[in-house]
Amino acid sequence: MNFQLTDEQTMLLDSLRAFLDDEIYPFEAEVDHTGEVTIERANQIKEKAIEVGFYAANMPESVGGGGLDYTTMGLFERELGKTSYALSANVARPTELLLASEGDQIDKYLAPCISGEKHESFALSEPGAGSDIMAMTTKAVADGDDYVINGSKHFISTPCLPDFAIVFAITGVDETPRGPRKRITAFLVDRGQPGFDMALGPRCVSQRAYRTYQLSFDNCRVNKEQILGEEGNGLELANKWLFMGRVWVGAQSCGKMERLLGLATEWAATRKQFGKAIGKFQGTSFKLADMATELQASDLLVMHACQKADQGIMTADDAGMAKLFASEALGRAADNTVQIYGGMGLMEELPVERLWRDARIERIWDGTSEIQRHIISRGLLRRFES
Ligand SMILES: Cc1cc2nc3c(=O)[nH]c(=O)nc-3n(C[C@H](O)[C@H](O)[C@H](O)COP(=O)(O)OP(=O)(O)OC[C@H]3O[C@@H](n4cnc5c(N)ncnc54)[C@H](O)[C@@H]3O)c2cc1C
Repeated sequence: MNFQLTDEQTMLLDSLRAFLDDEIYPFEAEVDHTGEVTIERANQIKEKAIEVGFYAANMPESVGGGGLDYTTMGLFERELGKTSYALSANVARPTELLLASEGDQIDKYLAPCISGEKHESFALSEPGAGSDIMAMTTKAVADGDDYVINGSKHFISTPCLPDFAIVFAITGVDETPRGPRKRITAFLVDRGQPGFDMALGPRCVSQRAYRTYQLSFDNCRVNKEQILGEEGNGLELANKWLFMGRVWVGAQSCGKMERLLGLATEWAATRKQFGKAIGKFQGTSFKLADMATELQASDLLVMHACQKADQGIMTADDAGMAKLFASEALGRAADNTVQIYGGMGLMEELPVERLWRDARIERIWDGTSEIQRHIISRGLLRRFES
């Protein structure tokens, strides 16, 4: 692996840091307190991001995106991960699922998401189907040239009210050697489509101003032209996105860990008790050493996955290990930082308690730590299956 940054990557990170200093860091505490990112603030971030070329940085240049490779995207996500996701998500990285758009879908969904005119949401989770996606009950039944969708989704998150949702629904059942298996299809469903309702979901204490929506479908009729990809290949599409999304969670966790380590080290070096800096006590200094070591290990796993993705050989295990290790290490780092700060670590005046709360989601979304362990161990054990 090569960890020497290219001149282009160094320049990109320098200008990204300057952008975050102006557009994101000053507003983090405010949006956390209000639990809301105003439309004006979101638009300002979006417009500036478009102006400096950070918007849709992940999408290929051929469709109007920034064309960053996965390794550079890993560095980009790592830097964004230091900040409030509710704000930094407005520097949109549209889901690569949209690259499966065909015909009219390109002008109606893909292109406007890249130019910032539209925002998508990714609607997979349901109240009864979180980790166990195959427990999904949302159905789309074929009726002539249409499909009629019934069911509900929850925890569907976006930085602002989405214009459409990529909705995963059951369109049939296949017989497989392991028994019947639901056939899942992805549909592009516009906000305002009759029978499609979108309501704000409950508040989350992690990334507080990043809101989730509950979607419900009551005989919502969509034309078969609204299928994204092929009928029945929704899960393959979803996995494609989820795997890379896990690496981005790992990269964001590294960014947040670096920020926490900086805060913890400064406090340990300057806060005095018993006549000396608390960093002079091993109980504190060893925590810093563990955080620094785990940060480096996390960075290695994330960059390893990114470089393999650039070579087209990244596996589900690579992505799962990067997410699992980095998000778990971040959890320990956040907890240790609160401990090093003592009571001040829990006070709203400082960013520590917010970073501790914000860190918590990383072990849950895009597949929990247990699900990553399940994926990794399944691969190990499969070799011995008869
Ligand atoms: C803020 C937020 C934003 C989100 N955004 C989106 C979004 O935009 N789109 C979307 O589709 N989803 C989204 N999600 C959903 C998210 O992906 C799920 O929360 C996550 O996959 C876990 O599902 P669950 O919450 O239903 O937990 P559950 O699946 O109910 O899991 C509960 C616990 O049981 C454990 N568990 C479950 N199965 C197993 C097993 N086989 N082995 C061991 N342990 C197991 C889990 O690890 C966990 O600890 C979001 C969630 C949140 C909180």
